[in-house]
Amino acid sequence: MGIFMRKFKKQEWMILGLEAALALLLIFGYKNTAAQKVDTWSGHVESGADEKEKGIKEGKKKGEEKEEEEEMLQEKKIAITFDDGPHPVYTEKLLDGLKDRDIKATFFVLGEKAKEHPEIIERMQEEGHIIGNHTYTHIQLRSTNREKFRDELIRTNQVISGITEQEVQYVRPPYGTWDKKLEEELNMFPVLWNVDPNDWCTGNTNRVTKSIVDKAKENSIILLHDCYQSSVDAALSSIDILEERGFRFVTVEEILFE
Ligand SMILES: [Zn+2]
Repeated sequence: MGIFMRKFKKQEWMILGLEAALALLLIFGYKNTAAQKVDTWSGHVESGADEKEKGIKEGKKKGEEKEEEEEMLQEKKIAITFDDGPHPVYTEKLLDGLKDRDIKATFFVLGEKAKEHPEIIERMQEEGHIIGNHTYTHIQLRSTNREKFRDELIRTNQVISGITEQEVQYVRPPYGTWDKKLEEELNMFPVLWNVDPNDWCTGNTNRVTKSIVDKAKENSIILLHDCYQSSVDAALSSIDILEERGFRFVTVEEILFE
C-alpha cells in the first residue's frame, strides 16, 4: 500500500505537473497569438503606410516626370551668334564659358582674323559650334563693290575650310546688306538676326544683358560680338537667365531648318 500510495502520489504529481504545463502552454500560446496579432496588425498598418508613402512618392515622381516632359515640349529654342572674331583673348574666354554650360553657338568670323588665329577656329569646330563667313575685312556690300564683296566671301571660305576641312554654308553679311543672287552663286545661306543689343557701342554688361533678356523670344537669333569683354560677360549671363526661363540654346541651323 505504501508503495502504491507512493506510486499514486507520483502519478498524481505527474498529472498535476502536466496540467500546469498545459496551463502554461495555453497562457503563453494565447499571449504569443495575441502578440502575433498585434505584430500582424501593426505590420499591416506599417506596410499600409509604406504603400501609401510609396504611392505618394511614385505619384510625385510621375508628376515630376510629366512636368519635365511638358517643359521639354514647351522648350523655347534660341540661338546666340557672335560676329567679328576670332579674338585671341575674348573668344577664348567665351569658348570657356560656353563649354562650361554645354552651349553650342554660331560664329561669323572675319577671314583676316581666322587666318591669324587658326587654333581658335579649330577649337570652335572641336567644341561643336557652327563657323560662318563674315567677309574677309568686314566689307559692306554696295552697288559699286559687288565683285570685291564676292571675292572676300570666297577668300574667307578658303581660310575657314583650310582649317576645318569643311564647306562653309552660312554667311552673315556685315550690316545686313545682301544680294540674293549670291546665294546660288556661292551656295551659301545668309543668316541675319532679330535681337540686337548694340553691344559694340557700350561697355556696360548689365545693359547688354538686360537688352538681350528683354527682347528674347522663341526662335530669336541674338547678335553679339566676341571681341569685347562686356559682350562675353553679357552673353554668358544672358544664357544663364534665359535657360532658367526655359530657353534652350541651339545653333542657327536648328532655328532655320528644324
Ligand atoms: Zn560685323
